[in-house]
Amino acid sequence: MGHHDAKDHALSLLREVLVWIGQHDVSPDPITYAVFYEHLSGRNDRLSAALEPLLAAQARLTDAQLRALHAAHIAASGGDDAERIRGDMQRVMDRIADSAARTGEAAGAFGAGLDGLQNALQAEDAAALAVQVAQARQKTQVMQASVDALQEQVSSSHAEIERLRSDLERMREQAVRCALTGVLNRRGFDDQLQKMLATPPADGAEHCVVLIDIDHFKRVNDTYGHPVGDKVIAGLGEVLRMLPPEPGMSLARYGGEEFAILLPSSSRRRAVRVAEWVRSRVGRIGLRSKQTQEVRLNITVSAGVAAWKPGDEARALLVAADGALYRAKAAGRDRVVVD
Ligand code: GH3
Ligand code: MG
Ligand code: MG
Repeated sequence: MGHHDAKDHALSLLREVLVWIGQHDVSPDPITYAVFYEHLSGRNDRLSAALEPLLAAQARLTDAQLRALHAAHIAASGGDDAERIRGDMQRVMDRIADSAARTGEAAGAFGAGLDGLQNALQAEDAAALAVQVAQARQKTQVMQASVDALQEQVSSSHAEIERLRSDLERMREQAVRCALTGVLNRRGFDDQLQKMLATPPADGAEHCVVLIDIDHFKRVNDTYGHPVGDKVIAGLGEVLRMLPPEPGMSLARYGGEEFAILLPSSSRRRAVRVAEWVRSRVGRIGLRSKQTQEVRLNITVSAGVAAWKPGDEARALLVAADGALYRAKAAGRDRVVVD
């Protein structure tokens, strides 16, 4: 497949994925994209085997189903993917090395032919010269063919390397993302926190963190079961992802039912506004049950806000936010408290 064919194919896959996203009750995010892409491209048989019965049973898939598929058949297979990408990369390199070696041999023969030609020129031997010219001409053609093959090899390898590079990027992205909620996982959070604290805040601004914890979450699990608890967590992730953007903001699932928001060069006032935005929308997390129509869960969250004091360790910032969160719980929950 040439470079343009590969590109056309990728574009038509992309269009197909977008159509699918439109046809299902799913968020247009990287997780949804990855699941549909892997299925439609036919590159993930285990995923397709799990997806097809769902498609046969219901017209519109949900976010929760896609996240489960992603967790089981894409995120979980990171090791296999890394192995496959390494293998593919090795094959591409081997092919280029092979072509280059053959071109090298042809170039060697070509050089030897030129030496013969030069000798014949110096001897001014017309008969020998005619033979040498004919040979040089033939060797030039061999050389040309070999260079063409190498060029072809290099350009098709280039397309393949591009594809592998984007596969690797996708894997790296998955390693720092929570499959259930679509926000960063703890590892991604730690990276972003270190990054935030490595740069001093802008003049008059402060680096802020918001910790958000679901109130009485044990009761949700105890009353409705763990899978419903997971849906509530996914719902809170969705609320976070709908936040109006703030410069440099990072969203993360910090722990089980705890989330964190990083706001570089912001202010406690703005951080409180962000936290309040989330708190005021959490009550609207609706859960449908298959038997009855709509289960209304009364979900609330508490939040703690803190600002980084220059010179402090990352831990101190988290301890301060956690202290504020604890006070929000103690004061009756469903509220935001600032350190
Ligand atoms: P509080 O208002 O004080 O926060 O009360 P709480 O019940 O939420 O208390 P706590 O934070 O101690 O309990 C959190 C519970 O969340 C404990 C654990 O069983 C549950 N949990 C943690 N991670 C998950 C998860 O991934 N899925 C589900 N369904 N439950 C989880
Ligand atoms: Mg908790
Ligand atoms: Mg809790």
